Amino acid sequence: MRNECEHVSCGSKEKVWMPHYYQGRECGLKPHPYCTECGLVKNLSSEKPRNTGFYINIITSLKDDFKMAQAQIRLMALDMDKYELEDRYGMDRHQQEELFINIVQKYANVPDWAIRRFF
Ligand SMILES: [Zn+2]
Repeated sequence: MRNECEHVSCGSKEKVWMPHYYQGRECGLKPHPYCTECGLVKNLSSEKPRNTGFYINIITSLKDDFKMAQAQIRLMALDMDKYELEDRYGMDRHQQEELFINIVQKYANVPDWAIRRFF
């Protein structure tokens, strides 16, 4: 189910202490604001998430080399929407990349390196 929440951050006193990540590595705890409507914790990474168009372009670039059918590409696009790849509130770039690789590999036989060279 897609989260249609507009995200309202809690006040500064109510932050939760959570691990902070940089380039996918944990680097200590930091107070994170969270959404009072849906509970999602805000991503504080300095690496801003990319929009879905960036990932769609990667799929388009891979399509011929890995003989992807239009139906497979459509399923990937639907999954990106379903798993909220573009939810900028909660997702950092590293999480986005890992999720994207999982989605692509669910529908097509594409090795990690082939996808990662676009990041
Ligand atoms: Zn929310």
